[in-house]
Amino acid sequence: MKNNNFRPIVGIDLGTTNSAVAYIHNGKPEIIESQEGKRIIPSVVLIDLKGNIIVGEDARSGLVAMPDRSIAAVKRQMGSDKPISIAGQALLPEEASALIIKELKRHVDALYGEGEKEAVITVPAYFTDEQRRATKEAGELAGFAVERIINEPTAAALAYGLDHMDEDGVYLVYDLGGGTFDVSVVEMMNGLLEVKASTGNRQLGGEDFDWKVVDFLSEKIIGDAGVDPREDIRAKALLKDEAEKVKKQLSENTSVTVELPLVTVKDNKPVGISTEITREQFIALIDNQLQETIESIYAVLKDAGHSPQEIDEILLVGGSTRIPRVAELIRELFGKEPRTDVHPDEAVALGAAVQAGLKSGALSESGLVATDVAPFSMGIAVLKEWKGLTQRPGGFAPIIPRNTTIPVTRTEKFGTSAPGQTAVSIEIYQGEHEWVKHNHRLGEFLLEGIPENVNKQEEVDVTFRYNLNGILEVSAKCVSTGKEMSVVVQDALRRDSNESFQESVQRLENLWKNADADDIGDDEIGYADEDWKMIDDLLDEAALGKSDIDADYESGELTPTVLEEEAFQLRERALNLLDKIDESARNKVRMVIDLLEAAITENDVEQLEKAIDEATDALIDLEL
Ligand code: AMP
Repeated sequence: MKNNNFRPIVGIDLGTTNSAVAYIHNGKPEIIESQEGKRIIPSVVLIDLKGNIIVGEDARSGLVAMPDRSIAAVKRQMGSDKPISIAGQALLPEEASALIIKELKRHVDALYGEGEKEAVITVPAYFTDEQRRATKEAGELAGFAVERIINEPTAAALAYGLDHMDEDGVYLVYDLGGGTFDVSVVEMMNGLLEVKASTGNRQLGGEDFDWKVVDFLSEKIIGDAGVDPREDIRAKALLKDEAEKVKKQLSENTSVTVELPLVTVKDNKPVGISTEITREQFIALIDNQLQETIESIYAVLKDAGHSPQEIDEILLVGGSTRIPRVAELIRELFGKEPRTDVHPDEAVALGAAVQAGLKSGALSESGLVATDVAPFSMGIAVLKEWKGLTQRPGGFAPIIPRNTTIPVTRTEKFGTSAPGQTAVSIEIYQGEHEWVKHNHRLGEFLLEGIPENVNKQEEVDVTFRYNLNGILEVSAKCVSTGKEMSVVVQDALRRDSNESFQESVQRLENLWKNADADDIGDDEIGYADEDWKMIDDLLDEAALGKSDIDADYESGELTPTVLEEEAFQLRERALNLLDKIDESARNKVRMVIDLLEAAITENDVEQLEKAIDEATDALIDLEL
């Protein structure tokens, strides 16, 4: 009999570089593959010239060809209210992330059919409340009921723990991904998996290593040709792509040759690069960052009260742990080999599925139970003694200390500071510094209606409740009257949260509608497969020096899509020129823009070629 209330629940790893989704199948977590058989998808979004939204591998290929129409590494901006521009539109980080999750949802829908689904989504342990809220919102915008937000290292430990429930011990989870670094100490005791301490760095990962290589290659080009390729958005995207490839090759080889004949142009001549980079040079470039991760290990061991010798197993998670130097540093520090049976790219999604299974009952027989910790201290601003002399505002009074097991509720008593005071402002912060200005502000609210008492302090109880999603609720109660005010911090931060959520829904619907207007479903891509291959081949050929892109254009072998891209780039160049030239030239440029736009709309090869020729001639004259 069909259970109509059944709502499938899946685990999602929303990564900086790659994302994946998993579920419980026959008592084991398993990745849900795409219909094309892909287990993980690059976390890249591209809006093509027709307005189609493309996510994953195809979008990644477009990063170099269309940097201004793609978004990568959006996770690093999660929680910020600064929109990201893509193809002339502005999307909030959670909206861009929703597009990635929506792609994963297609994999899930293919498995379970349409209908409501729940999800557990992972975040770095070090994510702040805003970043967790934004992640939850991204999942909801993509159409999931987000059951739980869990920490990535906890998820990795859950994936490992399910198979090693009878092996009591202390694990260290070292998670170095594309954008973030997390390290946690986890204890397994009779099936109870307890996170003891967690720390990390929100801005450290493989992306940074890529940029170090970009800088290395750029310095070389500056030395050889006197031009900084990083100032050319396309050249920068090309170098970033190459840098990642080089970095990955250096995990296998001790040296790699970089041959790119066309990176940028100077005086209308191509500027390329031909050089070699050794593993040693690469390690020297990223050494400071790797050392930072080692310092975090010492910090987390101290918080958990363990010495390196007491760690039984080290689990390496995240794609960047494939860099051989990482395992080497771990060996030097712990005197033992890290585990190799944890899949660095899949462990987090699998662990999220384990959490989902514990929730749905699919794994309740297993006896596995997991606890997590609050990665930051949370508290309020108070008057604090300064240099033993005066009382100053802005001191930090923690109410939930970091690494407290969650969920947790704590109450502390405070007193009004001035005689006759009838209201107190509760300012909420998270962080470890004794002065709030160095910590992270979460919100503020006012408790009014305190009786005017000129003779003595009124007492106020402040209660912090931190739930399993890492979302905080704060309340304050005037003890003498019982009057209480409370606030959920996510609401405190965004009083208009429902309104802004609806705005996001609308924005995404418009995006999808635009794509549908061209009669192309969101599961198809605006570029035909051959076009993608052509873009890739062109770039590869240019990189290898077999041909150059212009020669190929002239050969007339190009499809409308590739020509459209060229026309689009010329239009951007023309638009950039408009405010730098005088009125008579401006009219000419406007005509060029009209011509290009008409050709793009018509999508006709001949018209596109003609517009490109005319625009190229006109722009070269004006740009000189
Ligand atoms: P994750 O966020 O866990 O998916 O990790 C992705 C990061 O791992 C990206 O920065 C990748 O460039 C990096 N990565 C993947 N494979 C390798 C490799 N073989 N060597 C070095 N870094 C890698």
